[in-house]
Amino acid sequence: MAEHQEGFVLTTVDSIINSVRRTVGAKAMDVSAPVVNWARKSALWPMTFGLACCAIEMIATGAGRFDIDRFGAGVFRPSPRQSDLIIIAGTVTLKMGPVVRRVYEQMPEPKWAMAMGACASTGGPFDSYSTMQGVDRCIPVDVYIPGCPPRPEALLYGLMRLQDIIMREAPSAYIFESDGTVRRQRQLEGDEELQDISPLDREAEEVMSAISK
Ligand code: SF4
Repeated sequence: MAEHQEGFVLTTVDSIINSVRRTVGAKAMDVSAPVVNWARKSALWPMTFGLACCAIEMIATGAGRFDIDRFGAGVFRPSPRQSDLIIIAGTVTLKMGPVVRRVYEQMPEPKWAMAMGACASTGGPFDSYSTMQGVDRCIPVDVYIPGCPPRPEALLYGLMRLQDIIMREAPSAYIFESDGTVRRQRQLEGDEELQDISPLDREAEEVMSAISK
């Protein structure tokens, strides 16, 4: 009996906190959106993650000559749990797809992804049985960077475009729903108001389920 009462109290407290978070918390975050977004875009922590030749250019971007630290994104983290940006630099094989997806899912929200180079964006020159034809078949991608490989300047340009995107987001959209999902919303150029962006389209879900079997 006491256990039932304890469970009831905890559930009630939980729903009160959720309700306060969605009403007061969400409003406060949206009012201060420029400051919240500025803080987020100025302190991106990329995941230390490279797949092929493009990764060498990404490493060069972090070195002194190009100095990605100027954009506040120089703290490459060795754990997805400490990262909010994943740069897919290199060829993604079908076998690697579920691993990329798992690493992405281990990153806390809010998080962003960039596809660096032709291979990560479209499969590049490898239209083969083993290569995924674009990493957006397993994770949602925010910015695509063309080139084979793109130079460090191109990666920095992509990073600046990502910062533009972050400045157009609604911070409250990242408040978790009670079922654990996250509603991502953005207002991009040409949009009248905030739009929901779905994490993965149906085709991507089908590809993932096929290669995970
Ligand atoms: S895009 Fe070119 S440089 Fe980059 S991983 Fe593919 S083959 Fe290598």
